[in-house]
Amino acid sequence: MAHVSPAGEGSVAVVVRVRPQTPREREGNRQSVVRVVGDCMLVFDPEEASPPGVFAQAQDPPSKRKGKNLTFAFDRVFGESATQAEVFENTTKEILDGVLNGYNCSVFAYGATGAGKTHTMLGSEKEPGIMYFTMEELYKQIEARREDKHCEVLVSYQEVYNEQIHDLLEPKGPLAIQEDPEKGVVVQGLSYHQPKSAGQLLEMLRRGNLNRTQHPTDINATSSRSHAVFQIHVKQRDRVVGITRDLRVAKMSLIDLAGSERASATKGKGERRREGANINRSLLALINVINSLADAKGKKPHIPYRDSKLTRLLKDSIGGNCRTIMIAAVSPSALSYEDTYNTLKYANRAKEI
Ligand code: ADP
Ligand code: MG
Repeated sequence: MAHVSPAGEGSVAVVVRVRPQTPREREGNRQSVVRVVGDCMLVFDPEEASPPGVFAQAQDPPSKRKGKNLTFAFDRVFGESATQAEVFENTTKEILDGVLNGYNCSVFAYGATGAGKTHTMLGSEKEPGIMYFTMEELYKQIEARREDKHCEVLVSYQEVYNEQIHDLLEPKGPLAIQEDPEKGVVVQGLSYHQPKSAGQLLEMLRRGNLNRTQHPTDINATSSRSHAVFQIHVKQRDRVVGITRDLRVAKMSLIDLAGSERASATKGKGERRREGANINRSLLALINVINSLADAKGKKPHIPYRDSKLTRLLKDSIGGNCRTIMIAAVSPSALSYEDTYNTLKYANRAKEI
């Protein structure tokens, strides 16, 4: 059966989320380097950030703040007071119907370590993130269609680390990717699970996250160098008797990317250095894929999916009929000036798709 494509197929929506400053970042009355000026706009490094009477503190590091006063527009900008539910409702929820109509979709959290990617995607027990809200909403929508459709939902959770794929829910050796003409991208030996509720899913993800590879570095003791890929596989069949049953299979990929800060900023040697090069490989490959899609509008493009494990894994979930949302997470602290600037520049490029 031919499916009618949902509006926005093959599109990439780009949103920015600015996290609140931590108490440490607030010390010394440093001003935020990001000012949200509406639902879709922000100013980076605003001029006259300091209210009258507030001056730079002597103990501040030499400020890189130049008063660039750059205005950026995105599909949506979430300020520090935005709730987890608001972020979900204005991003992922809008493409969930695509999955129920048989299209693969993906949501990425991009940004430097500490910018709020994991908070946005996974969240905490008190403030669960997009992964939780997505499952909750999916179960709700499936329940509402129960009379007409039979649905099966399976989830998987894996990480790409050092150009290797690992199962986070049932840890074992590195897994291989295969491309199946019928099923699309298949990870050999990956475990699939059926959480009974969104709550049970949260517990599963938390356990999975403990299996994520983390290594201390000079810069950030818990910076994560791995990409975490959570996938929800939805299989549906019409409940109509006597008609050829229409089977639809689609998946939603929710990805917490490794930190986007330059690997050269870390001082590690040997292992760490190789690790850094590989992170860049998957992250750079993803950036290249997204850039190629942007450049290729309307043409028959060459999209370099094969350049890394991450892009091979997501080949059937970005571009084509898939809808993609990029959530760029940034810190408003002057201490993260370069990271925030780089993330905004990248996000600005990505939105040209
Ligand atoms: P990343 O995954 O990008 O390295 P985290 O999501 O771990 O960053 O966020 C770094 C810290 O900031 C964490 O302690 C997290 O709880 C906090 N944080 C991030 N975003 C928010 C937010 N929107 N509201 C409150 N705290 C946040
Ligand atoms: Mg993280």
